[in-house]
Amino acid sequence: MKSPISSSQIKNKAIELGFHKVGIASVNGLDSATERLQAWLDKSYQANLGWMANPKRQDLKRVMAEVESVICLALNYYTPHQHSDNPEIGKISRYGWGRDYHKVMAKKLKALANWLQNQKEGILARYYVDTGPVPEKVLAEQAGLGWIAKNGNLITREYGSWVFLGEVLTNLKLISDRPHTQHCGSCTRCLEACPTDAITEPFVIDANFCIAYHTIENRDAELPQSIKSNLKGWVAGCDICQDVCPWNQRFAQETDIVEFHPYPGNLTPKLTELAQISEQEWAQKFTASALRRIKPEMLRRNACANL
Ligand code: SF4
Ligand code: SF4
Repeated sequence: MKSPISSSQIKNKAIELGFHKVGIASVNGLDSATERLQAWLDKSYQANLGWMANPKRQDLKRVMAEVESVICLALNYYTPHQHSDNPEIGKISRYGWGRDYHKVMAKKLKALANWLQNQKEGILARYYVDTGPVPEKVLAEQAGLGWIAKNGNLITREYGSWVFLGEVLTNLKLISDRPHTQHCGSCTRCLEACPTDAITEPFVIDANFCIAYHTIENRDAELPQSIKSNLKGWVAGCDICQDVCPWNQRFAQETDIVEFHPYPGNLTPKLTELAQISEQEWAQKFTASALRRIKPEMLRRNACANL
């Protein structure tokens, strides 16, 4: 559908709604990313992340038949707090310190999608924040928000990789942005820093060896020994390959979204307390938190493995 409003009007609206970055991706030109995803799946590097193998992820038209453009959005979530080096304290990844980003992002995406649909009858706008088989990093790179880096994260020039991503799929034919260029250069800091060698080669992460995967997604009663002995205090996610990145060290800036500031208790949780957290304490401690994905028994398992 021909758009009654321009790409820049849409971008202005997104910024007005509080998004930190916005770009528009064309739905064409995703073929090489699709091939890379298939090669990754062929090696079973997705471990138990079943949704990564959803065939819809390789064809946006199967997610929304009418899609012509994707509006890609980013929210900076960095706060200047640091992880504790105290071996008695568990480490929680920055993404989980504050309010659940799905809630914060969805509210803004909904406002943008509604505004877009109200511009003219027939406009379709469907939003996603980890809520469907949408290749968010590939689209964000295509929309010029940043580049998919050697550690697998999307790095932006303005905020480093401390960004949450969301998308609005629309039937509008919009002028798209140019895909972002790659700026990892000859750096290999993330590959060297990963304690479990999960970055098997630049840009390729094997979830089977990733601490973030195991602490958040692995539901087994026990973690594999190779992970257990390299946890380095992490109980929820792992930020090592992002913390060492020079782009993050130079360009991270404090977010203006107060909901992303850490909840008390998420910065310095005691391992001994997490190791015996009850269902009730867990429910209270992690209200409106993305960490609710880590069930109490998983959190106890992760903390015990560190002790
Ligand atoms: S999140 Fe941690 S374990 Fe996973 S690739 Fe990065 S440094 Fe390695
Ligand atoms: S640490 Fe270096 S190689 Fe890794 S993502 Fe950052 S810039 Fe790229």
